[in-house]
Amino acid sequence: MVDRKRTSVTGRGGKEARRRLEEAVAGLKGRVQFDVPLRAYTSFRVGGPADVLVEPADVNDLVRVVRQAAEQKVPIFVLGGTNLLVRDKGIRGIVISLGRLRAIKEEPGSVLYAEAGVGMPTLIGYAIRRSLKGLEWAAGIPGTVGGCVVMNAGTKLGEMKDVVKAVRMVTPMGAVKEYDGRAITFGYRRAKLPAGVVAGVWLQLAPGVRQEMEQTVKDYLRYRRETQPLTLPSAGCVFKNPPHDSAGRIVEAAGLKGARVGDAEVSSKHANFIVNRGHASAKDVLTLIRRIRREVFQKTGVKLELELKLVGQA
Ligand SMILES: Cc1cc2nc3c(=O)[nH]c(=O)nc-3n(C[C@H](O)[C@H](O)[C@H](O)COP(=O)(O)OP(=O)(O)OC[C@H]3O[C@@H](n4cnc5c(N)ncnc54)[C@H](O)[C@@H]3O)c2cc1C
Repeated sequence: MVDRKRTSVTGRGGKEARRRLEEAVAGLKGRVQFDVPLRAYTSFRVGGPADVLVEPADVNDLVRVVRQAAEQKVPIFVLGGTNLLVRDKGIRGIVISLGRLRAIKEEPGSVLYAEAGVGMPTLIGYAIRRSLKGLEWAAGIPGTVGGCVVMNAGTKLGEMKDVVKAVRMVTPMGAVKEYDGRAITFGYRRAKLPAGVVAGVWLQLAPGVRQEMEQTVKDYLRYRRETQPLTLPSAGCVFKNPPHDSAGRIVEAAGLKGARVGDAEVSSKHANFIVNRGHASAKDVLTLIRRIRREVFQKTGVKLELELKLVGQA
């Protein structure tokens, strides 16, 4: 299904680039939109346009777009959207959103298989209804399962690496392959995966008591509401925690809570969050990030590293 309403706007790289883009998305069953502002697809509500945004209808459709993009030498980028800062000129090539890959299946031995587009909150709810424990630590993480594997999403209480049993990937040439979780190296907010797109994940959980899990999740969510600015758009934590310290504590100690550039503001509730107070541009956010890093370095000697992913063109 192709939405061509906006196609006249695209045209970067000329007619040949445009032809290759069209070939790469030809014949897909899922939704195809040209020149889509990505702010609508990110939790930060920031970001310029994707040349094309594709929402594959199923795994076969995903395979097809990956294969066709490789044939046409068009770059692809997969987005869940909750840990991203997309620059103001957007992303060239094809941006893939896996929002329609949202099947979950229970398998023997307390295993769940989730397609990559399943949201973590949905997956946690499903696991609890099946009395399967092991994901409660992730309560409040808004990303997709695929994005959470790639980022090795985690909290003080657990990480994806604790539960990933195996991963199904679509390789850059469009083959579907499965990898054992033990063959994947996980680090702090990263996973060393083979190149390609995560299409689905097997999670090893354990039998649990539903009421206890429900209570745990409720407590974590309350804690998040009390300590994080969840009513304003953000991309979660901006910086990685330095070893044995917390980036939020350091930014706060540097006196930067409430610091603002345009509509981008260091949250006064949690200093490792930058919130969008309305119409922040990526440039606003980046200017604020540079200021935080500079002042923190001058005051403490700590070089803060980005946790959120910066993508696209300035
Ligand atoms: C309010 C809030 C709270 C948060 N709390 C936490 C927290 O406690 N802990 C934590 O770790 N994170 C947290 N996050 C950040 C975020 O939810 C996680 O990093 C999550 O893992 C990102 O998933 P995503 O699907 O949104 O991926 P994105 O942010 O869109 O992408 C992250 C990276 O993964 C890649 N990617 C995404 N999906 C795929 C795929 N299927 N195949 C291949 N590559 C893919 C992208 O290309 C990108 O490089 C929070 C965010 C918000 C807004």
